[in-house]
Amino acid sequence: MNLKDKIVDYPNFPKKGILFRDFSPILKDPSALSYVADEFSKIFHTKDIDVFAGIESRGFILASILASRYNKGMIMIRKAGKLPGKTSKLAYTIEYGKDTIEIQKDIIKEGERVLICDDLLATGGTAKASAKLIEKVGGNIVGFAFIIELVDLNGIKGISKYNCKSLVKY
Ligand code: IMP
Repeated sequence: MNLKDKIVDYPNFPKKGILFRDFSPILKDPSALSYVADEFSKIFHTKDIDVFAGIESRGFILASILASRYNKGMIMIRKAGKLPGKTSKLAYTIEYGKDTIEIQKDIIKEGERVLICDDLLATGGTAKASAKLIEKVGGNIVGFAFIIELVDLNGIKGISKYNCKSLVKY
């Protein structure tokens, strides 16, 4: 299956100068969804994973699809202020300023093996921060699953020590 045919480009969204790659048509197509899960299951094996972590917000979707396929659970890595109860946080720098991500405190147990999921890898800032946060609370990163990778932005550089798989490269 050619997943690229199911990704739609939106120039100047959400801001002028940004070309937004939208994977919504993949989500609408049951055979594309199975294909996505099949492709990742060639690389990442059930016996090596305890839990999937989705990066807000489209990463939640991929993490849930894979968690269901692998018969595992998922957790949410969210922007600050959106999770109830106590949280573990990590601040990181973005292009113009700082951002903070959070997970619920104690949701990852010491030594749990985590596969981090997002729809798209761009500069890699969010992915790298997510790995740091999971490791800070004692989790082990199994790898990263992305549907799309924007190769020119070289986001892979910050997470190259992990096993990373993206299905469509631009
Ligand atoms: P990064 O931290 O620069 O790698 O940005 C990746 C994050 O931004 C991911 O969580 C993506 O969901 C989001 N993102 C950046 N560009 C796009 C795009 O073109 N389409 C969909 N999501 C994007």
